[in-house]
Amino acid sequence: RAKSAGGNRFELADPEADARAITRHGLTTALPTALERGEFFIEYQPLVHLGDGSVRGAEALVRWLHPQHGVLGPDRFIPLAEHTGLIVPLGRWVLEQSVRQAREWRELQGGAEAVGPLRINVNLSPCQLTHPGLVQDTVDILERAGVEPDALCLEVTESALIGADDDLLKPLRRLAEMGVDIALDDFGTGYSNLANLRRLPVSILKLDRSFTQSMQQFPADPVDLKIVEGIVSLAHSLDLAVTVEGVETGAQADQLRILGCDTAQGWYYARPGPPERLHELALVDATG
Ligand code: C2E
Ligand code: MG
Ligand code: MG
Ligand code: MG
Repeated sequence: RAKSAGGNRFELADPEADARAITRHGLTTALPTALERGEFFIEYQPLVHLGDGSVRGAEALVRWLHPQHGVLGPDRFIPLAEHTGLIVPLGRWVLEQSVRQAREWRELQGGAEAVGPLRINVNLSPCQLTHPGLVQDTVDILERAGVEPDALCLEVTESALIGADDDLLKPLRRLAEMGVDIALDDFGTGYSNLANLRRLPVSILKLDRSFTQSMQQFPADPVDLKIVEGIVSLAHSLDLAVTVEGVETGAQADQLRILGCDTAQGWYYARPGPPERLHELALVDATG
């Protein structure tokens, strides 16, 4: 398809872009029914304590089992859901499922755990942050499941909070006061002012995978090492815990432990998987 741009000028057709647009359109219109039909599911990826290797909890990561396209990752549909507003009911569904799952793990643990009950991390999109129901929905979900607020960590990306005014921070503050942890996700990618951290009601920094990747080479780039070391020491001096994402090798894990990071997540420990897997990992860990 070549569009006539008037006169004898022609724009070249881009069939790939067209296909992408069609899929995007198709996915967007299918989203609301997908939620009604139960096509979404959640995988859980363990969060591991770097000091002793124990599983402390998991991050909930949503997937879409599309009837034609198979399993789609969140990068394919979260932006569409944000654009159409479906992210609010979808995000609420993810939160409810995840909190119930945490409740089930805790029941299975039966209080016999060595390192405390498993915790659950759930991603929040910027649209959920500005939605007036966020605090009440979260309170209701926790109450219905019988889960204490301190079992929950909400992950908000650094870019969502850049330049955030007090109105945007108010619901997060209320949640933090209740005992919900707030994590700053993908930290280090958003060029936020480090001094700004003091204003934010966050208790955890999730260092972006790009930092972990730079620990891949041995010896790692000394400047990268210094940067991570600096972020960790700043975080700790502000009473923030540091989690690292994307740990794929033992060498990275060692390096990040030496640099003082607290918790890690990545394929080296486990890929995201079904909830039973997480419980198995936590159990093996507690008994073995
Ligand atoms: P994120 O919150 O930064 O999640 C971490 C992503 O890194 C996940 O991708 C995870 O599967 C991937 N990952 C974990 N370990 C490794 C590793 O060792 N190596 C590599 N290369 N990747 C690793 P995923 O599941 O595709 O999710 C992508 C993003 O989608 C998430 O990034 C998060 O921002 C968003 N997302 C996922 N679930 C939800 C949700 O329920 N609500 C919202 N609003 N966003 C979500
Ligand atoms: Mg996250
Ligand atoms: Mg992240
Ligand atoms: Mg990330």
